[in-house]
Amino acid sequence: MDIDLTGEQRAIEAGIAKICARFGDDYWSECDQTPRFPEEFYRAMAEGGWLGITMPTELGGAGLGVTEAAIMMHAVTRGGGGFSAASTIHLNLFGPHAIVVHGTPEQKARWLVPLMEGKQKACFGVTEPNAGLDTTSIETFARRTNEGYIVRGRKIWTTSAQVADKILLLTRTTAKADSKKPSDGMTLFYTDLDRSKVEVRRIPKMGRNAVDSNTVFIDDLFVPDEDRVGEEGKGFRYLLDSLNPERILIGIEAVGIGRDALSRAAQYAKERVVFGRPIGQNQGIQHPLAENWAFLESAYWMCLRAASLYDSKKPCDAEANAAKFLGGRAAFEATTRAVLTHGGMGYAKEYQVERLFRESMLQRLTPITEQLILSFIAEKELGMPKSY
Ligand SMILES: Cc1cc2nc3c(=O)[nH]c(=O)nc-3n(C[C@H](O)[C@H](O)[C@H](O)COP(=O)(O)OP(=O)(O)OC[C@H]3O[C@@H](n4cnc5c(N)ncnc54)[C@H](O)[C@@H]3O)c2cc1C
Repeated sequence: MDIDLTGEQRAIEAGIAKICARFGDDYWSECDQTPRFPEEFYRAMAEGGWLGITMPTELGGAGLGVTEAAIMMHAVTRGGGGFSAASTIHLNLFGPHAIVVHGTPEQKARWLVPLMEGKQKACFGVTEPNAGLDTTSIETFARRTNEGYIVRGRKIWTTSAQVADKILLLTRTTAKADSKKPSDGMTLFYTDLDRSKVEVRRIPKMGRNAVDSNTVFIDDLFVPDEDRVGEEGKGFRYLLDSLNPERILIGIEAVGIGRDALSRAAQYAKERVVFGRPIGQNQGIQHPLAENWAFLESAYWMCLRAASLYDSKKPCDAEANAAKFLGGRAAFEATTRAVLTHGGMGYAKEYQVERLFRESMLQRLTPITEQLILSFIAEKELGMPKSY
């Protein structure tokens, strides 16, 4: 057992840190407050070839695993841009996993190459207002026509739909009541976000404001057969393949935010003098920050353990869920403590920790909430009755 990063993995960290260093606090404050998509950062990552880190080598990607993607995304959030930075590129890594596994060679070339090159952006339309976490209860319906489907429905919280060219869209093609199993009868599409048929309304929200979140109204959108991923009726199963990587990435992105906040807090504690000495000389300031360090460290290695299991094709459901849970919690505690360590200045935008604090609530909520993670672990690891 060798629990450390390899030379290649350290090189990934260093490469990302170099890009992040070009985008300082003023840049991220401006993107957050305007709010606007961090196009320059996204472009820098595309030009560096990072958007294809997990994509197949035959298409020009690096063909690396979740472990390397996790190391990369940790470096992205650790680098100051937090979840706003991560969200500009997160979807490129495992969002299209269903296409990699179930797409035809023609679809992969048509869809994945422009994504990797940063020529197209995609969004991910799964969550619906009337279904919530009960995904099989979605109502967006794709009705068969001669050469394709006509889609009607509503999605909510669709990230980056303001700037996206494409949407990965989960629909029902058979009503839940008429399907053998609730997860049957769901079909996945990757298609143009045709704004003459799709209205995208931005949701004003607490944090990560640089990257938009939206309600999406789909009104008789025509989707040709060639934009269907895999077989009709199997879309939900295809999506399940990418859930563990997504949880691992969100968990480790959270850790990066927490570590950034912790560094800022420690720095401030060394510099700020009150009662004639640095506040960081008081154990009441030191101990909570040291606790944050320990929790972040353990969450980081849980994420990499889950990633390593995934990459070696071993079961990792519980570990991936625990990674997301621990990362989210440890980051939230660290950003909260960072605000408190700054005293009143923690509330000022100037010190950035309020931005990280607002963003760190998100990894407790998405892509799955803490309650559902704990229900899953209680059922699968502790043998308790299923509760949802
Ligand atoms: C900023 C942001 C970006 C997002 N981006 C995307 C995106 O790009 N694409 C996308 O498809 N979705 C996206 N989401 C949606 C996100 O994945 C969901 O918000 C999340 O899965 C929770 O679903 P919900 O909001 O419908 O909560 P609900 O299902 O309404 O749940 C509400 C609360 O009840 C709890 N609860 C529900 N059932 C149970 C139960 N049986 N036992 C215990 N507790 C329960 C939940 O844990 C939660 O605390 C985003 C959300 C946010 C906030």
